[in-house]
Amino acid sequence: MKKIGFIGAGKLGFSLGRHISEKGNGEYSVAGYFSRNPESAVAAAKFAGGSAFESAAKLAAESDLILLTVPDGEIENARHSVGDAAACVPPLIAHCSGARAFPFGSLHPLVAVHDRETAYKNLDGAYFTIEGDPVFIDFASAMLTALGNPYCIIEADKKNLYHAASVMVSNLVCALTHEGTETLKACGLDEEFAARAWRSLFLKNAENIAELGPILALTGPVERGDAQTVARHLEALSGDTREIYLLLSRTLVNTARMKNPDRDYSELDNLLGTAPLRRGESDLCACVESDLCPAKQTGINLQDHTHLIQQTPKMQLCSANVRTSGKTIGLVPTMGALHAGHLSLIEKARAENHAGFVSIFVNPIQFDDPEDFEKYPDTLEADVKAATLAGADIVFAPSASEMYPEGFASYIDMDGITERLCGASRPGHFRGVLTVVNKLFGICLPHRAYFGEKDAQQLAIVRKMVRELNMDVEVVPCPTVREEDGLAMSSRNARLSADGREAASALYEALLKAKALFDSGETDPEKLCAAMRAALASPLITVEYAELVDNDTFLTPAAAYEGCLLMLAVHIGGVRLIDNMML
Ligand code: AMP
Repeated sequence: MKKIGFIGAGKLGFSLGRHISEKGNGEYSVAGYFSRNPESAVAAAKFAGGSAFESAAKLAAESDLILLTVPDGEIENARHSVGDAAACVPPLIAHCSGARAFPFGSLHPLVAVHDRETAYKNLDGAYFTIEGDPVFIDFASAMLTALGNPYCIIEADKKNLYHAASVMVSNLVCALTHEGTETLKACGLDEEFAARAWRSLFLKNAENIAELGPILALTGPVERGDAQTVARHLEALSGDTREIYLLLSRTLVNTARMKNPDRDYSELDNLLGTAPLRRGESDLCACVESDLCPAKQTGINLQDHTHLIQQTPKMQLCSANVRTSGKTIGLVPTMGALHAGHLSLIEKARAENHAGFVSIFVNPIQFDDPEDFEKYPDTLEADVKAATLAGADIVFAPSASEMYPEGFASYIDMDGITERLCGASRPGHFRGVLTVVNKLFGICLPHRAYFGEKDAQQLAIVRKMVRELNMDVEVVPCPTVREEDGLAMSSRNARLSADGREAASALYEALLKAKALFDSGETDPEKLCAAMRAALASPLITVEYAELVDNDTFLTPAAAYEGCLLMLAVHIGGVRLIDNMML
């Protein structure tokens, strides 16, 4: 006979204890309860079995497994109340949080526990997830099997995702049902009627979902692709309820697409602003042969159907298929080590197109300094995850030899503008940038390409290339994302020392000072630049340039005007930083 002790005598403790007592079949029983509130422990023991203990350690001495049925924030305290680690083997210890993972086991039932008196019945046959070391997993598996509860083992780092999923199916459904009930009341229906009307609808629907699964159980105007009715709903709704309806209808279209892959949902896509590829695994998988599906090959754990593609021909084929199916592609070219600045570009690309592609390629031919290239961070796995969370559908991360095979000799050159500022101190830099951007356009076939205003000269040069070489790509500028102190986010910031990081905030201050001077009437470029240099005066900072230029030509005008750019490049402890601001 194995004995289970409970620390915490709330709803879950009551219910799990009673479940174990009723279903334990003589193999598992309740040792008892310890609670900070002794009366609760007595009541729980009376309800579920075992005794009320006056200390957690005493309960532990009588138990094979201690379950911490306390609120998430109390788990660590409860764990310590049992005693020190050495004294705790046996018993095993586990908590019952859905979201948290600690360095010991957890056991979580996928049911709502509403009260102390009746909710234990919900545990009959309920599904559980368990997580922890092999000894706990063995114990919990045997116990749940004996109790008749199906279970699955979950990885600790997946618990938040798992818990979010369970909240969707449980709590979010409650919120939604409330919203529906309130809307029924707004129709002028009798209150009592409105409050009860949803029941048969909801219960029948739940039965259908249980029987058929959520995709096949789907019915209604969105499922039928009936954009007219949905448009009328949107007209009738207002405020938050309309927002909720709109947001969920977007999810609904994609679920409907899975039920009816051949149905045309384009009218609804237009109405709702949906982008069918967002969760359209089938659409995108069809772009690459399924057995070549890169997600399967990488070993990287990809969520939400983002695909990592590393071969150029495969990427080109995928892009061509997406394009010919009438979908738009937004491309964000990056060199990886993604930060919030990059993610803002990805979100924009994803929001404005059916498919968001992100390229991650540290382009060797744009580095004039081999050391800078060597030190450039390589964080592909984290980048793929971050890009995925920001909504990217495809991450294209080719190798250097894939991009520049032996004998590669075709480059894009541009006169004038590429020779100034960054081009002056980094010979060949913009030639490398233009060449790689051109190649990425040829491989990813974007309708739109997203570039940060932080790299203002790069943005201007890419725009010029697209214009002058008649490329069919819209270049979309994106605002600079900054740290709290104003420092522009950059993959290089991580290489700054603590002192250097502190000094780096002067860049933004310098730009603000010069801008304030211009706003107060000063138009002499010399004076504006002198103000920036003065703000950058620090033994830690070496200024490479501090200039005022025209946004198109990157030449310094005789007098500053609105739309000019203040441009800065500095070196701090061997790290080169750039920033700019438009007047
Ligand atoms: P990188 O990986 O540094 O080549 O940057 C890739 C793209 O992200 C470029 O278009 C950059 O201009 C843009 N970017 C980099 N940092 C930021 C930032 N702090 N805010 C907005 N965009 C950025």
